[in-house]
Amino acid sequence: MRCVVQAGTGSPCQNLPMPDAVRRVAVALPRPLPTPFDYRIDADAAASPLRGCRLRVPLGSGEIIGIAVDEAQDANDEALALKPVLERIDETPLLHGELWSSLAWLARYLHAPIGEVLATALPATLRQGAPLPETQAHGWRLSEAGQTALPGLRAGAPRRLAELLAQGVHDEDGLDTRHPGWRTHARSLTRRGLAERIAVDAAVATPTVPPPMLNDEQRAAADAITAHESFAVALLDGVTGSGKTEVYLDAIARTLARGRQALVLVPEIGLTPQMLERFRTRLGVPIHALHSGLAEGERARTWTAALRAQARVIVGTRSAAFVPLPDAGLIIVDEEHDGSYKQFDGIRYHARDFAIVRAKALGVPIVLGSATPSLESLHNAQAGRYTHLRLHHRAGAARPPQVRVIDVRKRPLQAGLGPEAISAIESALAAGGQVLVFRNRRGYAPVLLCHDCGWSAQCRRCDSPMTVHGAGRRLICHHCGAQQPAPPACPQCASLALQPQGNGTERIEEFLSQRFADVPVLRIDRGSTQARDGLQKHLDALGAQPGILIGTQMLAKGHDLANLTLVVVVGIDEGLFSADFRSGEKLAQLLVQVAGRAGRADKAGAVLLQTHHPDHPLLQTLVTQGYHAFADGELGEREAAGFPPFAHMALLRAEAKHADPVMHFLRAAKQGIADVAIEVHGPLAAPMPRRAGYQRMQLILSSPSRAALQSVLDAWVASLYTMPEARRVRWSLDVDPADLY
Ligand code: ADP
Ligand code: ZN
Ligand code: ZN
Repeated sequence: MRCVVQAGTGSPCQNLPMPDAVRRVAVALPRPLPTPFDYRIDADAAASPLRGCRLRVPLGSGEIIGIAVDEAQDANDEALALKPVLERIDETPLLHGELWSSLAWLARYLHAPIGEVLATALPATLRQGAPLPETQAHGWRLSEAGQTALPGLRAGAPRRLAELLAQGVHDEDGLDTRHPGWRTHARSLTRRGLAERIAVDAAVATPTVPPPMLNDEQRAAADAITAHESFAVALLDGVTGSGKTEVYLDAIARTLARGRQALVLVPEIGLTPQMLERFRTRLGVPIHALHSGLAEGERARTWTAALRAQARVIVGTRSAAFVPLPDAGLIIVDEEHDGSYKQFDGIRYHARDFAIVRAKALGVPIVLGSATPSLESLHNAQAGRYTHLRLHHRAGAARPPQVRVIDVRKRPLQAGLGPEAISAIESALAAGGQVLVFRNRRGYAPVLLCHDCGWSAQCRRCDSPMTVHGAGRRLICHHCGAQQPAPPACPQCASLALQPQGNGTERIEEFLSQRFADVPVLRIDRGSTQARDGLQKHLDALGAQPGILIGTQMLAKGHDLANLTLVVVVGIDEGLFSADFRSGEKLAQLLVQVAGRAGRADKAGAVLLQTHHPDHPLLQTLVTQGYHAFADGELGEREAAGFPPFAHMALLRAEAKHADPVMHFLRAAKQGIADVAIEVHGPLAAPMPRRAGYQRMQLILSSPSRAALQSVLDAWVASLYTMPEARRVRWSLDVDPADLY
């Protein structure tokens, strides 16, 4: 016989297992499940607040780490049938307060499983159940015994370390950088009781450099940002080199002075050692970096240091939008227009937008900075929702670059470069300058074509051309990563007349290094430069000597090239005619950002844009009237066409090996939407209809009202999980898609 607790009576039967020793808890699991799972937990284990704590629980035949989404509930008899929580990992909640409610908001907004959202917010080691890492900074000093013993120590490395420590406490960070191998000697001193490790304040002695005097526009901007200690969004709209970073630094310094934390988000490629060093020496506090290049342990340490409020300035890429900020004072999103803020798989959040949500919840100001603000942010500034702060001029001595459109119709091209570009490169080098050739296409050539029969190398899994690499020897699919040697002869007609068509960065490099053999020619793209620091090493090796850099958008920002006097942009024409509604905006931003690399210091810069469409309105407006004129025109077109920011979209993507189940699923899904406030387009083939062997289609939902779209998604997305058609496809929902791919 089992004991049943009657609701309301509260008096269990006697002499039987006490059910109130068992409670019930809802656990969010990092799986694509629409709702949390219930588990039973011992009342003792649930005695202190549970929501936001990690729990180890059974799932299927294995175990998994989930997060309690609520306090434990009184359990009735049915709880005994639930699977038990195996371990409570955290005594106090890891996720709580503002971060907890912001994450709950994010899950609702994206209509994404809460367990996956919570897991995305945690660094991998914590997600996997590791204990919180130690974050306290430590230093070393001599013990009293050590002071006494020092004069009698044998000469050698341990004695040298002892002499150093005799001068005072040295922190481990400093020892690591200045005295490699010190730990062995420290251990040997410790064994003899001569040295000891002590906790130190993390802010020991960071050398600083004084800030420049801000100009009037910078001063006004910095004052406006820090005028309030409550939520406000400022759009810091300043041309490249106008000193936006100096404004951030000024505002951060004031935030630190008020005893608050600052979070700075930067794009993937913007976070360079150069940039961190600039922050460190200016602010005089440790800068905690968070990016994908760090070891997992390091990421967990930074996250935890933020949680414990030890990290005062956190600088990171997209995922840094999830750091806890118990003492928040300021959030900055640099290059707010950058595409890398949007996550393209899993939980498809936008780090800038989430940062704004957090700033609001935290009640702190947020700054969105860019030379080429997104149309969303400009629209919000025009509507008065954001304060629009402008920096019109380059700081210091730098002048804006001269931009020229070069018509290459009917001109002879070598590796895609026309005679004007080649002679401009020649003169720039002769004058001792550096040249950047920008081509946003990696590899040797975009297509391998048979000149005799017209065959071209296609990826078997993607229905799209494979890119030629290795001077024609290899074929790589840039969509699915498939690789194969280039065929020696045409597989269709056996002709040997296989020709790489078009120009990627490798081919431009090949040509320029022959043509300008006496200067260094460096190619910088994802193929040549894997590591973040690798790029810096390349640039350091080049120094200020004349030379040529060939790059993809990796080079468009973040790196100061003081001696860069000429930028040549080739192969932009495909971007002028892309079907995606955001392609014009992206191209304009890229062109302005690339152009902004030229003439950063005291040397004037020139920019050449090569095109077959010199009269294209985008180029004309951009070159003669600038980015803001372009943006105004583009906003007008978006409004007329009903595209963001005037409409709000969600994209339901689905894929499967065969097209039929995809079509069935999307058709059935479409029938679930009856609201007239929502326009539904599709099912349509995705712009890339087949990738990695999967047929891909999509349904586009659009509405002028964000609220209407959200309320339709609420019920609709829940219903998708239970549709029988959904079992035969992989599907995902993207709220506010960056593009319609
Ligand atoms: P942005 O972030 O807008 O690209 P930076 O803040 O990096 O611009 O500034 C560009 C350059 O101008 C840097 O070398 C910076 O040190 C310098 N600079 C910025 N503001 C000033 C100022 N007020 N006085 C002198 N130099 C400045
Ligand atoms: Zn052929
Ligand atoms: Zn492929």
